[in-house]
Amino acid sequence: MATTETPRMVVGVPRENRAGETRVALTPTALPQLTKAGFDVVIESGAGDAAGYPDAAFTDRGARIGSRDDAFAADVLVQVNVMDGDPASGDIAKLRKGQVVVGAVAPFARPEMVKAIAGTGATLFALELVPRTTRAQSMDILSSQAAVAGYKAVLIAAAELPKMFPLLTTAAGTIAPAKVFIVGAGVAGLAAIANSRRLGALVEAYDVRPAAREEVESLGARFVELPLETGQEEGSGGYAKQLSEDTIKKQQELMAKTVAASDVIITTAQVQGSTAPVIITTEMVKGMAPGSVIVDLAAEQGGNCEPTVAGEVVDVDGVRVIGVVNLPGDIPVHSSQLFGKNVANFLGLMVVDGKLDPGVDDDVIKESVVAAGGDVVNNRVREALGLEKLPEPEPPAPEPAADDTPAAEEAAK
Ligand code: NAD
Repeated sequence: MATTETPRMVVGVPRENRAGETRVALTPTALPQLTKAGFDVVIESGAGDAAGYPDAAFTDRGARIGSRDDAFAADVLVQVNVMDGDPASGDIAKLRKGQVVVGAVAPFARPEMVKAIAGTGATLFALELVPRTTRAQSMDILSSQAAVAGYKAVLIAAAELPKMFPLLTTAAGTIAPAKVFIVGAGVAGLAAIANSRRLGALVEAYDVRPAAREEVESLGARFVELPLETGQEEGSGGYAKQLSEDTIKKQQELMAKTVAASDVIITTAQVQGSTAPVIITTEMVKGMAPGSVIVDLAAEQGGNCEPTVAGEVVDVDGVRVIGVVNLPGDIPVHSSQLFGKNVANFLGLMVVDGKLDPGVDDDVIKESVVAAGGDVVNNRVREALGLEKLPEPEPPAPEPAADDTPAAEEAAK
């Protein structure tokens, strides 16, 4: 007797188009999880080459290798940078109604792209919008990639600094450890602290969120105390809030001494959805000893240092200010592995009874969808496009408090 089986869902992984991108959106490590969830995977031939994953590494784990069109024919298309790069306009024409597209979208910087994808009828998810909650951590590409970037920033600084990082006692005398100052102790900042400590530097760190102190200290760094009213007890979605211009000015004044005494500064301060706060002025940089190095991780958002230029090294009186971009792309084996795992976890949320349901009632899914049903559905993107706002969904009901009154306990017996 013939059985009617649910056809398996297909995930397609095309080669990245963005200039200089080495990462790939899925790696072989994530395939067994997807297979188990009911997905078949089609990889465009060569998509993983630059990341260190040849076609055979994927076929060994059950994926199929095909053309770009084969990858685009999938039910779900996953990309590190969604429709980014020159040939991307041709790619958009390949999308179709009912298809799901998942990856880093930069939706607020590229609202027109979101609109173009919405026009195809595909459902688009921007993984940058995954909320910073405990439940969503395993799908948070910003965190996984920032951890890689924080680690790499320290290696760049150590290689550029004309000094050693660790304390060294030799017959020819003692070398003092390098002084490293980390500004912003979020995901990238904490990774930078940990790696600077591994290399033996004396590390100090500052963050506007008082809660960061404990994490900084647990990694063996000193938390720099600035008598500032930052009002950052709680930010939105795990992110800091914007400081006023006056507070930033005060912060700069109070920080100048620590900056001047540092051999290396790694800046990672960000306020989600805004340009990066300028924390280190050109004057402050001039106060550092020649040969000192600043690595500015916020370069692509405008930079935390006044002289920063994204993708360039700027010399300010012998201090090099390095505006790094796409550091995860420098370590593509592991950054792709983490990205791929984030993607696989995210796709898992959309599988209901073995079928793909991009409209599933789930907070993580709802917060990250930017285009659906032929329309742009994220209000910030709509605003950027001059479109009327959609009614905001009801906030989720608070968890009921555990009823531990004696009467309730009695009833539960
Ligand atoms: P995060 O939100 O986890 O951390 C940012 C931290 O900055 C927060 O702890 C916040 O409280 C702090 N902060 C905000 N304003 C501040 C201020 N005025 N002074 C001191 N601290 C302040 O962000 P993250 O994921 O760690 O990313 C940090 C930065 O690194 C972002 O700009 C991100 O875009 C960038 N990044 C760059 C690369 C790259 O390759 N260049 C890669 C990944 C991330």
